[in-house]
Amino acid sequence: MLVDIDGVLNPLRRPHRRFRRHRVAPDGHALNVWLDVRHGRMLRDLAADTGAELVWATYWRDEANVWIGPRLGLPELPFVPVPPFPGIEEGGTFGSWKARHVAAWTRDRPFVWFEDEPDAAASLAAEPGVGDHLLVGVDPVRGLTEAHIASAATWLSARPLPPAVTG
Ligand SMILES: [Mg+2]
Repeated sequence: MLVDIDGVLNPLRRPHRRFRRHRVAPDGHALNVWLDVRHGRMLRDLAADTGAELVWATYWRDEANVWIGPRLGLPELPFVPVPPFPGIEEGGTFGSWKARHVAAWTRDRPFVWFEDEPDAAASLAAEPGVGDHLLVGVDPVRGLTEAHIASAATWLSARPLPPAVTG
């Protein structure tokens, strides 16, 4: 389960009083984020209920484990190494650039992706060899909701469980 931060866990503006402002400094750049600690529990429960693994898929890369995860009660998570967006002049968008790197990292594995970039789904579908997936589109003004979690849970529970790791 791939999780974006900006527009998903950190909405564009505070959508509800549950969200608290946090001062953070990923890569030394000070900024404010809005976080709802309930998101941490929702994601942990989803992972526990479905057996799927949580992974960061964000331009924050491993800074997510420093600045966001601990504030939501999430353990250190693997992350998709999305390189910095090269710019519009190079072609593409934030969403298509990210989709390319998500496809490369997931290879043919099935995954759910919580993402707010509007062109991410189409970009992902255009990537060759991408695995079976569900892109859960999030409204960046509202951020992640219970309905998004429910969609992911339904899709994941309809899939056969991977073989148990023994030994
Ligand atoms: Mg985003």
